[in-house]
Amino acid sequence: MDHIEQTIKLARSTNCQDDKNFFQALQEVLISIKPLIAQHPEYLDHNILQRIIYPNREIRFKIEWLNDNNQTQVNNGYRIQFNNALGPYKGGVRFHPSVNPDILKFLAFEQIFKNAITGLHIGGAKGGSDFDPKGKSDKEIMKFCQAFMTSFYNSVGSDVDILGGDIGVGEREVGYLFGQYKILTNTYGSIITSKPLSLGGSQGRSSATGFGLIYFTQKLLEDQNETLKGKICTISGSGNVAIHAIEKLYEMGAVPVTCSDSRGAIHDSNGIDLELLKKIKLERRASLEYYAIERKNATYIKRENYDEGSNYVWEVPCFAAFPCATQNELGKKCAQTLIDNDVKIIAEGANMPTMPDAIDLFVKHNIIFAPAKAANAGGVAVSVLEMSQNNSLNYFSAEEVDKKLQNIMSNIYIHIKKTCDEYDLGMDLISGANILGFKRVADAMIAQGV
Ligand code: NDP
Repeated sequence: MDHIEQTIKLARSTNCQDDKNFFQALQEVLISIKPLIAQHPEYLDHNILQRIIYPNREIRFKIEWLNDNNQTQVNNGYRIQFNNALGPYKGGVRFHPSVNPDILKFLAFEQIFKNAITGLHIGGAKGGSDFDPKGKSDKEIMKFCQAFMTSFYNSVGSDVDILGGDIGVGEREVGYLFGQYKILTNTYGSIITSKPLSLGGSQGRSSATGFGLIYFTQKLLEDQNETLKGKICTISGSGNVAIHAIEKLYEMGAVPVTCSDSRGAIHDSNGIDLELLKKIKLERRASLEYYAIERKNATYIKRENYDEGSNYVWEVPCFAAFPCATQNELGKKCAQTLIDNDVKIIAEGANMPTMPDAIDLFVKHNIIFAPAKAANAGGVAVSVLEMSQNNSLNYFSAEEVDKKLQNIMSNIYIHIKKTCDEYDLGMDLISGANILGFKRVADAMIAQGV
């Protein structure tokens, strides 16, 4: 048994065994760095494998808050501060009923390597709560955010751990979290990103993940003498990442024809009506079924039961598929349908949306696969710009941020491709990304000593 297999066995037999999502992410990273470990025995001498699979700190806290009927509500809160070898912890906060320590541990683990790949000096973390923002009044959202921060502000700091947005946490929630931190500490530190512009947020932060995903895809396609122009694209999700991916696809001349939410999916063969989508999801915060009521030619498929890995949008023939909703939303059966329909590229906007057996199938059929930790890194990259603008008080225009984002996404692709060439990996961008990220973190860990 080699060192990688021993580490996987160790992870399985210790604290990772019940953490299905975390174990899935961990196994993928460890297996793909085998060629790196073979060339760098110093990583074994410094026991980097064992040191990197355990989080530095797992914080768990109780959140008590009052709803509009003055009833006391209780939720669980978490923060996984996984690795800070490269810089202060950085990662989003998620509010969704599915949040649990396993999901956050996997997201924090992925965040370490994603942040490393950007070349920026930030560590990896993730946090959140099982609180469900759906159906809550604005006042209830504010009270919950204040209670969340009150329970946890001692572990946050602009050179300790910087929070950000994620599922269920947009500018409104970020604003309330920041406001409470300011009251509790009497400081205006850059402890959270994705802030509204009125609180020192960066131009272009809200669109950065979705736009970055399409810039990355464009760069990759350029390398294959291909383009998105005139191509049918399918997208899942209808939140921040999906909406901005759709917007940028239109700018590239592509035709995005699907979107989805937790209750159903839309297929609009004429192209998604972006203004209508924004009105329904961002202004009214309503279900996508209203899209089909207002746009008669569109088809709405209601999601009857939750079946992991399935989504109607993957049944629609397309050139490129962009999963942008949540983890494990594209399984083997859907992957086979996409392949049968001659898909050319999968680019992940969400974190770990593609299940391992679906990835295997894409790889087997030589479908280009752009993994989340590279393709959706635009959000965290612009978050670091936001931190640097807050600290220097020197703010960039929307055009400047967009230009920097394009450069960052292009460089991420170039560095991953270079790594693929160095290790003879062809277009295996998953292994290329994992090796690049792992190497940067491991080198920083060795340089710091134990
Ligand atoms: P949003 O909350 O804005 O949107 C999430 C979308 O996914 C909504 O359409 C939501 O449906 C749907 N969704 C959420 N959970 C489920 C589920 N269990 N089953 C089916 N659909 C679901 O989140 P974001 O767009 O910000 O994030 C989407 C993904 O991108 C996540 O994986 C996130 O971690 C990742 N990401 C986000 C970044 C960012 O900058 N925002 C940065 C990097 C990664 P509904 O409307 O019904 O809730």
